[in-house]
Amino acid sequence: MSGGRLKPVATPSVTRQLMQTHSVSAKKSLGQNFIIEPQVIADIVAAAGCDKQDLVLEIGPGLGSLTQALSAAAGQVLALEIDQSLLAALAESLADCANVQLLHADAMEADLAGLLAAFADRVDLRPGFMAVANLPYYITTPLLMRFLEQPQLPWRRLVFMVQKELAERMQAAPGGKDYGALSLAVQYRAAARLAFTVPPTVFLPRPNVASAVIVLERLPQPPVRLAPEAEQLFFAVIRAGFGQRRKTLLNSLSAGLGLDKQQIGAALLAAGIEPGRRAETLSLAEFARLAQELAV
Ligand code: SAM
Repeated sequence: MSGGRLKPVATPSVTRQLMQTHSVSAKKSLGQNFIIEPQVIADIVAAAGCDKQDLVLEIGPGLGSLTQALSAAAGQVLALEIDQSLLAALAESLADCANVQLLHADAMEADLAGLLAAFADRVDLRPGFMAVANLPYYITTPLLMRFLEQPQLPWRRLVFMVQKELAERMQAAPGGKDYGALSLAVQYRAAARLAFTVPPTVFLPRPNVASAVIVLERLPQPPVRLAPEAEQLFFAVIRAGFGQRRKTLLNSLSAGLGLDKQQIGAALLAAGIEPGRRAETLSLAEFARLAQELAV
């Protein structure tokens, strides 16, 4: 496949050809489900709405299908791929994409803020970045939590292909089984919008479930009052509360935070929350009030 620009990777034939040429097979353990439908790639890039002033972080370029389109639409792309065996295929598919920097790295371990800061002095790029990815399903939640918990990561928008069920959890309201720590973390930091859903047939290999592209637009500030120094505690509280979601808050929080029940009880009382309630009944504002009381 030399001499001239490589065709878009996102078709069944080019994907298979690349995999064959470079002797790679899709690894389930790394969540490798490659997009083989060009319209889906176009729709993700449209949902991202990036332009030539944007710095885009892509997690898991795979064989480069989405990366090619991001390269055409954005000013600069930084792509982190954990799987060494894909690098030769990526070198081929991205050969003409001069604005793509490809790094062999684990997105869960990499110093994302440090890597992105390397582009901070580029006057042709607007400050901050957006992240666009067809995320490996096995680390979707911890990766999202990394973005949501670290206020110093200057992302403006996250555009992620995820399992449809997870997209629904991000938007869930109190009271239901979908409501949890992820819903609260997302709604604390962002406005979430489900852009579109796709069936398993657009991937090679096919996953077992439907997927969705979710767009998280960072809020200028959280929708609830919380002192910045209580923010880490807020995330610890929601994790602890839902760590044992069938238990009362008094029990789940004392176990999860390692605090005595008297201290938790006093904070719940001060926040106006009945100690016998379960985490899934609390609103975002109530969790914020509780974290604030625990922080004093
Ligand atoms: N972007 C490609 C596409 O849409 O066809 C591939 C998407 S595939 C769902 C997920 C990709 O993430 C794979 O290439 C996989 O190797 C990579 N990946 C998995 N875990 C990763 C990690 N911790 N850091 C960086 N990349 C990872």
